[in-house]
Amino acid sequence: MGKLVRSISADGTVIMMASDTTDIVATAARIHGTSKVCSAALGRLLTGCSFMGQMMKEEKGTVTLRINGGGPCGSVICVSDYLGNVKGYVMNPDVDLPLKENGKLDVGTAVGTDGYLSVMKDFGTGDPYTGQIPIATGEIAEDITSYYAISEQIPTVCALGVLVNPDNSIAVAGGFIIQLLPAAGDDTIEAVERCLNGLKPVTTMLASGMQPEDICVNVLNEFQMEILDEFDISFKCDCSRSKVEKALISAGVKELEDMAKDDVTSVSCQFCREKYDFTSADISRILIKASK
Ligand SMILES: [Zn+2]
Repeated sequence: MGKLVRSISADGTVIMMASDTTDIVATAARIHGTSKVCSAALGRLLTGCSFMGQMMKEEKGTVTLRINGGGPCGSVICVSDYLGNVKGYVMNPDVDLPLKENGKLDVGTAVGTDGYLSVMKDFGTGDPYTGQIPIATGEIAEDITSYYAISEQIPTVCALGVLVNPDNSIAVAGGFIIQLLPAAGDDTIEAVERCLNGLKPVTTMLASGMQPEDICVNVLNEFQMEILDEFDISFKCDCSRSKVEKALISAGVKELEDMAKDDVTSVSCQFCREKYDFTSADISRILIKASK
C-alpha cells in the first residue's frame, strides 16, 4: 500500500503533497516486467498522476497522463482516480539504456523530448478537459511542472523519484508537489526557493526512512506545515469482463466476424495484463449485440 499526505502552510500560501509509492511502482514493475529505466519512467509518471488525481474534487473524476517524446520506450500512459489510486503502462517495457554521467537512470532519453505530455481530466460528466504541452526534458517531473505553468498558470514544483535495485526490484519510489496559493507573495516564492536549495533527492529521503508527512515538514522548513489528511493509495485497475465486452462491441461487426472464426480470442488489459478469454460462441453472442 502506498501513502499520500496533503499539507498546507499555516499562513495559507503554500500547499504540498508528498507520497511513498514504492508498493505501487513495485506492482507496476512486476506486472509489466519493466527494465530499470522503464520502471523509473513509469514509476515517476504514476506518482505524478496520483497527485493530479488527488487534486480532482469530483468523485468519479479521473486524470489520464500520456507522454510520448519519440524515445525508445514509446508512450507511457497512466490513469489516476480522484483518490490517487493509479494504473499505467509503458509501450516498450524492456528498453534498456546506459546510465547518465551522473549515475542516474536516463529517463529523458528513454521517453524522448520530441513530442507532448497530454493531460485529460474527466470529471465524470462526459465533457473532459484536455491540455497538451511540448515535452520539456522527458524526465517527467519537469514536464508536470511545465504543464502547470503553461496550461493552468499555477506556480508548481514537482519532484519524482524511483530507486531501482541491481536485481530490478524497486527499492523506494515517491515524490512531492508544491503549489503556491493565490495568497502567496514574492516573499513566499523566495522562501520556497530557499527551502529547495540543496535539497536531497526524494528517493534519498524515503530510503532514510522518512514518511511523506516528514517530507512535507522537512522540505518546507521555513513554513509551519500542517498535515491535512493522509490517504492509502495503490495500483488499481478497474477493468472487467463486461468492460472488455463493450470494447469488443465498439470494435465493429467486421472485426468480430474475424474473431468468431478462432476457437478462443484472448484480450489482455493493457494496464494490468489481466487476460479475458472469449470462445467463438461468446464472440457470436457479442456479434449479435454489435449488429443491433
Ligand atoms: Zn486491467
